[in-house]
Amino acid sequence: MVNCPHCNRSIDPANLRIDIGLKGGAKCPECNGVVRPVLRYKLPIAIVSALLAGLVMVLVGVRNLILFALGTGLLWIPISMVLNGLIGWGKPHKLKAAPPPSKPSEPFTRLFNNRRQ
Ligand SMILES: [Zn+2]
Repeated sequence: MVNCPHCNRSIDPANLRIDIGLKGGAKCPECNGVVRPVLRYKLPIAIVSALLAGLVMVLVGVRNLILFALGTGLLWIPISMVLNGLIGWGKPHKLKAAPPPSKPSEPFTRLFNNRRQ
């Protein structure tokens, strides 16, 4: 069980509603507040993803050192994001508040409301 940073209620991580639109965030089932997992193992994840990226480069057969470094760097980011997501949501131990998702329609409704006043 983890505590929601918004309503401070104890919630089961399995009940969190993970939404792709929230950029890795999830919604609290109690108060609908957007939360994110506090990531543990940041450094190990970074190292493991770099090793995996390097392994992919070896498997693909890249022998050029510059291409190897470039490819590893490019692959490292998405691999670490996936690992962070898997580990973060696999068993979150703590949640932090995340900003609510940006609503692209908001400026339009504001404009509309201002005109009516
Ligand atoms: Zn909550």
